[in-house]
Amino acid sequence: MATCLRLRSCAAFCSWRGVSAKERSSLLRKWYDLMIQNKDDLAKIITAESGKPLKEAQGEILYSANFLEWFSEEARRVYGDIISTPAKERRALVLKQPVGVAAVITPWNFPSAMITRKVGAALAAGCTVVVKPAEDTPFSALALAELANQAGIPPGVYNVIPCSQKKAKEVGEALCTDPLVSKISFTGSTATGKVLLHHAANSVKRVSMELGGHAPFIVFDSANVDQAVAGAMASKFRNSGQTCVCSNRFLVQSGIHDSFVKKFAEAIKTNLHVGNGFDERTTQGPLINAKAVEKVEKHVSDAISKGATVVTGGKRHHVGKNFFEPTLLSNVTRDMLCSQEETFGPVAPVIKFNTEEEAVAIANAANVGLAGYFYSQDPAQIWRVAERLEVGMVGVNEGLISSVECPFGGVKQSGLGREGSKYGIDEYLELKYVCFGGL
Ligand code: NAP
Repeated sequence: MATCLRLRSCAAFCSWRGVSAKERSSLLRKWYDLMIQNKDDLAKIITAESGKPLKEAQGEILYSANFLEWFSEEARRVYGDIISTPAKERRALVLKQPVGVAAVITPWNFPSAMITRKVGAALAAGCTVVVKPAEDTPFSALALAELANQAGIPPGVYNVIPCSQKKAKEVGEALCTDPLVSKISFTGSTATGKVLLHHAANSVKRVSMELGGHAPFIVFDSANVDQAVAGAMASKFRNSGQTCVCSNRFLVQSGIHDSFVKKFAEAIKTNLHVGNGFDERTTQGPLINAKAVEKVEKHVSDAISKGATVVTGGKRHHVGKNFFEPTLLSNVTRDMLCSQEETFGPVAPVIKFNTEEEAVAIANAANVGLAGYFYSQDPAQIWRVAERLEVGMVGVNEGLISSVECPFGGVKQSGLGREGSKYGIDEYLELKYVCFGGL
């Protein structure tokens, strides 16, 4: 099936690349309009397949649709260049051309938006795509296919290949080694990203990698504590802590530490409700599967065994076996697992620090660097810390930073390339230099 879809996508590329930018733009716009018309059903699909609270799923659908709208606009703004050369009889041009067939592999935590963020850019550039969604969440990808069809996007331009986890390895390898595929765009864990990079190396494919994070959230003494708590709630507990930009380590300066921990605990107890995603009161759905809960449990018990204090939460929730209590840990130290790797669950570990130097050193002591957040009212400190954090995205006095207009991506082992924004389309374009001589 994978081979068949790659051939189909390759055949479609030959005609799609020749469709005018204006026409590609208007088809993407129709796809966007259909997403908006069907937003309630699309959101219910996300909640049904991932457990995400319905309100969040509705938010994801708008975010997801916005990528199609944004790239429908960007499709018409792909400009080349004319370069002056020292030779009088020559002129130099730079053309931008679509890379070719793109294989798109996406995770379960944003089953719709992780697809459109890539596919919007790819189609706008003139590429065709083969999408492999996560086993846990294939239906959003398939619903998008139905709407693409209704929008008039030609057959073969957007293809989906759902497969079981058992087959993911095989399909991933087939996509990454196939000579008909020119580009791999992956969002998921750093471990899987490395495997795919390895496969793609042999045929030297273009790659974009959106990988894992381990975001620091720093609260300096000068911070407005209420703002910091609101930011912490937003950046930690969205999707029950299962986002790549979720704060994973809270570094809090000694002067503000106790007041921050007290108010953060109150906010967690008051504002978070664990339950069925379709229940209106629910803010925290289940974790995606049993393995995810086991990892969270392991991080919490490791922290407790090394001296952390459970301020609130700390165990599985009685609602069901895949639910975990929103958890706040204090007295956390750097040797604990939760300080060293992504937890991907509703656990907020707080580490106390004394100086700015120390906070930046702890924040940067990670082999990944996706997002980072800090709260401070000191302008000089804001510039210093924003420049020194080794991450691709920084929230200054802000806990929610993603938007289609801004570049999303990381440094170190958090990935390669950027998605969204005016830069996102470049990932699907090749530069071709054309030298006109003999003039
Ligand atoms: P994952 O295990 O790497 O899976 C991601 C995708 O890759 C899924 O479609 C999965 O299929 C597939 N896959 C797994 N092993 C594969 C292999 N050997 N070959 C080919 N495909 C393979 O990641 P996850 O646990 O689902 O997602 C969570 C991770 O994604 C976290 O680390 C998070 O930080 C990261 N993430 C990053 C971003 C970003 O923009 N930087 C955004 C969201 C998530 P199956 O599900 O069927 O196994």
